[in-house]
Amino acid sequence: MLLLTDLHKITLLAADKEAENDHFKNFLKEQDSEQIDSIVHQLNEEITPQIDCTQCGNCCKSLMINVTPGETESLAEHLHMDVADVKEKYIEISNQGQMIINTIPCHFLEGKSCTIYQKRFTECREFPHLHKANFKARFFGTIMYYPMCPIIFNTIENLKQKLNFNVE
Ligand code: SF4
Ligand code: SF4
Repeated sequence: MLLLTDLHKITLLAADKEAENDHFKNFLKEQDSEQIDSIVHQLNEEITPQIDCTQCGNCCKSLMINVTPGETESLAEHLHMDVADVKEKYIEISNQGQMIINTIPCHFLEGKSCTIYQKRFTECREFPHLHKANFKARFFGTIMYYPMCPIIFNTIENLKQKLNFNVE
């Protein structure tokens, strides 16, 4: 499988494919959800190991990251800081009452790499969520990152091929 990893080319192609992706969204609605999940999971397993996230970091520039109390404690230990100081420096409470990282891009992104990679949060580890069930229901949230996430871009392009999706 030949993958496209050039972020600039992906952004340009994404602009060209806006109408196509609208058609694909409608096409997907007619497909069997379990079959789609099975293909997406397989593609995710093939594609994700071939993409170097340290050459991208785009999700870290745009995601709102939820943090659990346990993750805050673990981060404090990792940074040799008090939990209270970590909360004051890096965390705020969202409108929904959830602890979130208080900057977008994330504090811990340096260049294109995460400076706390081993301690990164569950939310970071799970993005772009392609291993989860019900891809169809999450398509709207996924396609938002199609122009900036090579994993999503390549998964969706290969999914189109596997489903013999034809724009015409
Ligand atoms: S946007 Fe996608 S490819 Fe880029 S770092 Fe995030 S998960 Fe990896
Ligand atoms: S903690 Fe690391 S992986 Fe998570 S958003 Fe911040 S820089 Fe990215």
